[in-house]
Amino acid sequence: MKVLVPVKRVVDYNVKVRVKSDGTGVDIANVKMSMNPFDEIAVEEAVRLKEKGVVTEVIAVSCGVTQCQETLRTAMAIGADRAILVETDAELQPLAVAKLLKALVDKEQPQLVILGKQAIDDDCNQTGQMLAALTGLPQGTFASKVEVADGKVAVTREVDGGLETVSLTLPAVVTTDLRLNEPRYVTLPNIMKAKKKPLETVKPADLGVDVTPRIKTLSVAEPAKRGAGVKVPDVATLVTKLKTEAKVI
Ligand code: AMP
Repeated sequence: MKVLVPVKRVVDYNVKVRVKSDGTGVDIANVKMSMNPFDEIAVEEAVRLKEKGVVTEVIAVSCGVTQCQETLRTAMAIGADRAILVETDAELQPLAVAKLLKALVDKEQPQLVILGKQAIDDDCNQTGQMLAALTGLPQGTFASKVEVADGKVAVTREVDGGLETVSLTLPAVVTTDLRLNEPRYVTLPNIMKAKKKPLETVKPADLGVDVTPRIKTLSVAEPAKRGAGVKVPDVATLVTKLKTEAKVI
C-alpha cells in the first residue's frame, strides 16, 4: 500500500514575518524556511504506518521552487522512501496544488493521501478538501487518530463538541491535526541516508496542469498595533473601568 504525503515549504514558524512596504505581500527574502508543521505530522504518521507494516511505500511530494528539494530531503530523513518535486517558480494557490496532486494520484495510485490540515503561511485549509473533490475520494479532515484496517481507514476528527470518528473506504484523503502525533527528530545518519533516496522532478506542464492563479491578493497589512496596558490598584477600579471605559460588562 502506497501513501502520498504532500509537504509544503513555508516560512519557519519561529520567524516573525514582515509585510512588504508596498503592501503586496510578506517579505520572504533571507528568511528561514521549513516544512509546514502539519506536513511533518503527516510524514510522521505515514512512516509510523510503514513501521507497523500497514504501508509499503511513502512518497513525499512538494510543489514549488527548486529549494523545495530541501523539504523533500527532510521528509525522506523522517522516513519517506522517495520524493517528487513539481517544480515551478509560479505562485501556487490551493486549487493549482490540488490539481497537481490529482495528476500524481492518477499516476501513482496511492491508497492514502495524508496532507496537513493547513499551511501556516496562507492558512487556507483548502488543498486536502479540493483534492478529495477533484479525485472523488472520501475525506477525513483534522485527524487526531488514524487507523487503517480491512480496506478502510478510521479517522478520529477534532470537532467543536469533541471527537467524531469516520470510517472511509480506501483510497482516501486524510488531513492532519496537531495532536495526531509528535514528529521524531531527524538524526544525522538519516539525513545522510536521505541524500541517496530517489528524488524525481517534473514540471506542471508534464502533468498537464495549468497553475495560473485564480485569486488576486489586493493588499496585505499588519494587524493594528495594540495599545499599552494600564495597572489598576484594585478590583473595584478594574470593574469600574470595564463598565465605563471598555464598556464590556
Ligand atoms: P492549504 O490548503 O494551503 O492550507 O494547505 C493544506 C495542505 O496542503 C498542506 O499542509 C500540505 O500538505 C498541502 N500543500 C499545500 N500547498 C502545497 C505545496 N505547494 N506543495 C505540497 N503540498 C502542499
